[in-house]
Amino acid sequence: MTAIAYAYPDEIVALKEGIANFIRAEVIARHEKHHDLLADQRRKYTAEGAYTPEVLQLIKEIRMASAKAGYYAMSAPQDIGGGGLGYLAYLAAWEQIFHLCGAQYWLGHSMISHWAKGPSPVLKGMTPELRAEVLPKLMTGEHSMCFALSEPGAGSDAAMIKTRAERDGDGWRLSGNKIWITNSPYAEQAVVFAVTDPELAAKRKGGISTFMVPKNAKGFVVESLINMWGHVGTDEAILRFDDVRIEPHQLLGELNRGFKIAMLGVGLGRIYNTGRAVGMARWALEQAFDYVKVRETFGKKIAEYQGVTFPLAESATQVHAAHLMALNVAQLLDQGQPATKELAMTKMYAVEAGKNAVDRVIQAHGAMGFTNEMYLTEAYMSLRKVNVADGTNEILRHVVAKQLLSGDTDL
Ligand SMILES: Cc1cc2nc3c(=O)[nH]c(=O)nc-3n(C[C@H](O)[C@H](O)[C@H](O)COP(=O)(O)OP(=O)(O)OC[C@H]3O[C@@H](n4cnc5c(N)ncnc54)[C@H](O)[C@@H]3O)c2cc1C
Repeated sequence: MTAIAYAYPDEIVALKEGIANFIRAEVIARHEKHHDLLADQRRKYTAEGAYTPEVLQLIKEIRMASAKAGYYAMSAPQDIGGGGLGYLAYLAAWEQIFHLCGAQYWLGHSMISHWAKGPSPVLKGMTPELRAEVLPKLMTGEHSMCFALSEPGAGSDAAMIKTRAERDGDGWRLSGNKIWITNSPYAEQAVVFAVTDPELAAKRKGGISTFMVPKNAKGFVVESLINMWGHVGTDEAILRFDDVRIEPHQLLGELNRGFKIAMLGVGLGRIYNTGRAVGMARWALEQAFDYVKVRETFGKKIAEYQGVTFPLAESATQVHAAHLMALNVAQLLDQGQPATKELAMTKMYAVEAGKNAVDRVIQAHGAMGFTNEMYLTEAYMSLRKVNVADGTNEILRHVVAKQLLSGDTDL
């Protein structure tokens, strides 16, 4: 039985099946084999809060096995050696991964290259030198990257970044600070956004460029790891650039037009997070439907209490709506339409629906819902954070309102 009338094209059906097989063979198998390491935060992280070398090795193994199987770089442009698959495939892949892995089999979250961590459309503008020197190891999953846009003074208003790339002969000198940069403690490369023309940047008419910077460049400092909610370790860090020399070939895309790359990335992030929210919520809700049929209170299964089932029914309705919105906006984007309003609506609605669904699943489990072994609180924390990353819920409402007021009122 299917709840969705729209049928994916055959290649996406095959992609989803392939992902499911990969998760069983490569992801779940590793979690079972290394359970003591992967399920225990005290063993997963070093005292400083970084993943231990053993954990990093397992993440890399997943990336490399997936690259070999042809999944990892599926959304990178074909002319850099990727699969060239569009938004619909990207959505389907992430929804499948989060539906099958949930928060429990988290190694699976590295199976497809996240747009900011590895091969993705963001790399389209690589120079021949970057393609020769940097791309091969990103494509095989041996190396990874991070996406350094946000700064202490520029989050939602990302165009206000202050990191500066000043002309130095034929290249540049990079100086400034970045914050909240996911995967930066582990990545070998960073996609860094910097002001190259302050006048244009002040007028919001360009003036920001994108550079590919190796982490081992002189003056590139990972200043500190940021411990985030609920974890003794982290994916995020603060970065500092102290007069880092940038060669001409490190420019990604066009000079002064880097903000377009940032927005391309954020758009992909909105699809990724929508797939993540729908998939994760389905994973959680399915656990609740099983649990309420066996748990008894006052002589009855709790499934018989509407106080338990109605919140789940409401969340299932919202997740279904989010799924349909997601399928719609991915197709609009694949048709080449901007779909600005629809993408903002979809990400905002999906992450709120997903977060609320997981919250209700926790409630339906009683105390059991808070145990680490259920991974529900982990799922809740991850979706709660996504209500801020890649466009906060408020900024997304602002985008929708702006579009509506400008005459884009089709609903
Ligand atoms: C888990 C996580 C991972 C991240 N990873 C990365 C990364 O890899 N790379 C990267 O560059 N950045 C990353 N970020 C940063 C993220 O992009 C910013 O957190 C986000 O853009 C919001 O910026 P801010 O945190 O500075 O909040 P602010 O912009 O300071 O906003 C604070 C509050 O004010 C509200 N607000 C702001 N402006 C308006 C407005 N006009 N109307 C209404 N409300 C408004 C916001 O919605 C928010 O509630 C990450 C963030 C998180 C949480």
